Amino acid sequence: MNKALKKIVIVGGGTAGWLTAGILAAEHNSRSPEGIAVTLIESPEISTIGVGEGTWPTMRNTLQNIGISENEFFRCCDASFKQGSEFIGWVTGEKNDSYYHPFIAPHGFGQCNLTSHWLQSKDNIPFAHAISFQPHLCDAGCAPKQIQTPEFAAVANYGYHLNATKFAKLLQEHCTKKLGVKHVVDHVIKINGHIDDDIQSLTTKEQGEIAGDLFVDCSGTASILLAKHYQIPFISKKHILFNDSAIAVQVPYSDKDDVIKSHTLSTAQEAGWIWDIGLPTRRGIGHTYSSSYQSDFEAELALKTYLAKDLSEESIKQLQIRKLSFEPGHREKFWHKNCVAVGMASGFLEPLEASALALVELSAKMISKELPTDHAIMGIAAKRFNQRFTYRWQRIIEFLKLHYVLSKRQTSQYWLDNRQNASIPERLTELLQLWQYQEPSFNDFTEIEEIFPSASYQYILYGMGFKTQVRTSTRKPNDEAKAQHFLQENYQLGQKYQAGLPSNRALITHIINTGLPK
Ligand SMILES: Cc1cc2nc3c(=O)[nH]c(=O)nc-3n(C[C@H](O)[C@H](O)[C@H](O)COP(=O)(O)OP(=O)(O)OC[C@H]3O[C@@H](n4cnc5c(N)ncnc54)[C@H](O)[C@@H]3O)c2cc1C
Repeated sequence: MNKALKKIVIVGGGTAGWLTAGILAAEHNSRSPEGIAVTLIESPEISTIGVGEGTWPTMRNTLQNIGISENEFFRCCDASFKQGSEFIGWVTGEKNDSYYHPFIAPHGFGQCNLTSHWLQSKDNIPFAHAISFQPHLCDAGCAPKQIQTPEFAAVANYGYHLNATKFAKLLQEHCTKKLGVKHVVDHVIKINGHIDDDIQSLTTKEQGEIAGDLFVDCSGTASILLAKHYQIPFISKKHILFNDSAIAVQVPYSDKDDVIKSHTLSTAQEAGWIWDIGLPTRRGIGHTYSSSYQSDFEAELALKTYLAKDLSEESIKQLQIRKLSFEPGHREKFWHKNCVAVGMASGFLEPLEASALALVELSAKMISKELPTDHAIMGIAAKRFNQRFTYRWQRIIEFLKLHYVLSKRQTSQYWLDNRQNASIPERLTELLQLWQYQEPSFNDFTEIEEIFPSASYQYILYGMGFKTQVRTSTRKPNDEAKAQHFLQENYQLGQKYQAGLPSNRALITHIINTGLPK
């Protein structure tokens, strides 16, 4: 059937819906009559999930592409800088058990194998600190750029921490006012089209029927198009990633000048872990855990014990605790007929490594780039999308599981069971065997846009004390001198940047009051 694609309808006004709308409308010129029309339907009855406060550096590129200024973003979204994650207590749970997964690759990555050098050294400097200057910036609470650095440019690679509700609001305003996205506030009550065929239109409660050529399901866990209408099965991953619950609180700073951490703190608990994210006006703190290993009461107690480090009993009592449940897993496929799911509607694993919004960005970008000009090639676009994203979900599952598999914590059944062979994906088991004899490399992750490159695997493996027997047969006479040069350079960069960069709070205050150069 030959039919030009003219109108896209998105269901859902959470971060996934608005990011997808922005990416599609910016690329396909929705403001102009010649462009592709984008309509977003959002139910006034169902609120957005409202969590999702950590992004990847990819968000800088996304914001730039859709035309949101970084100054505006910081002012509207209570945003701060994120330079990576610090994992506390994940290896043994003992004092000083902490390591970083920063956003920049090991210094000289691709030019000099500092990893191999570090593996042989007897220096006792933690991996990330030895081969990257970014953990030093995080320790010192530095911002990743200077006040003179233009919007989106970086001294050290960074993503953001943000208020998810404010972010969705900014995206909505930008998409409707600047990019020509039509916003319909109404509840979808009926999907028109046979289950074996394309969706023709959606019926809304108040505003009748809305027709389209492509339908993007961003309806959150309800997944009203892909799951409810097309009955695409859900594949649970709970046997691999055990967490299925979360409790979250918003914690005010005791002083308006308190330090804003420029990285996410992830602290291991008996049956999960606690995230701690610093925004300019508050911290977002939450405990994600497995309901099979811990009751809600015990999880709340663990969160309160964490909060008691900084807050009085009285202040803790006043906090509003929000409970969320989720089933870790994803749909069997993501694009079916003329419907593609993005965000929670396609699946969710757990917040570790904050990969959900990155996956939204990647999904929306691929839909946008491969948007079938004509209906005749819709099936090919769907097949390519499903292949690419099945691969990506698998890689994310393995990478998240790696954090649990490498732990030596003995304190609870949760951690012991996480290391049971039956819970570990086969490919990960094989790679762990291989990495005893060679470091993770480009050969293990061969896609051009790998979601987690080999550098990320190195940070987790060696941060958690994994041992690789270094191959010595390939060593060249000047390797040692070259490694020393890069290590020295890394050290000097760390010193220089620490001296020259403002604190995270100082730079954010400057952005809010004055702004970064364009
Ligand atoms: C505990 C937790 C922590 C997380 N932390 C992170 C993180 O740090 N980083 C990260 O990247 N991600 C994180 N995530 C994931 C992140 O929150 C989501 O990926 C993101 O918010 C996108 O959600 P969404 O837009 O898909 O769904 P939602 O926000 O749930 O939006 C669904 C939308 O669909 C609409 N809708 C539903 N039914 C209908 C209907 N019948 N008619 C019309 N509209 C309808 C609703 O009104 C709503 O607008 C976290 C998730 C959880 C659970």
